[in-house]
Amino acid sequence: MFKCDKCGECCRNLYRSSIYDQLHNGDGICRYLKGNICSIYESRPLICRVDESYHAFFQDKLTYEDYLQLNYECCGILKSKREETLCQYHYG
Ligand code: SF4
Ligand code: SF4
Repeated sequence: MFKCDKCGECCRNLYRSSIYDQLHNGDGICRYLKGNICSIYESRPLICRVDESYHAFFQDKLTYEDYLQLNYECCGILKSKREETLCQYHYG
């Protein structure tokens, strides 16, 4: 099962994929994100559900282990970009 640490970075970077266009107003930040938490978590769309999306869209394309690894890599990239931004903000 995919393990999310609730950093909220994916929900602040929705502009990176047009499949999330309905969830934000052009700024990339989901309208349902409150702090770092999804306010509609139990009813969030399928495209926000990592494990369910595997079975719906990817299971005939790659293994579940590879899919998880790709997701964790994307999480790491988003987190590192956030740290870069925070460093630029704080230290110029
Ligand atoms: S970027 Fe990854 S760890 Fe952070 S909230 Fe999104 S899925 Fe969870
Ligand atoms: S609906 Fe929830 S999980 Fe999906 S992008 Fe918005 S805040 Fe994130």
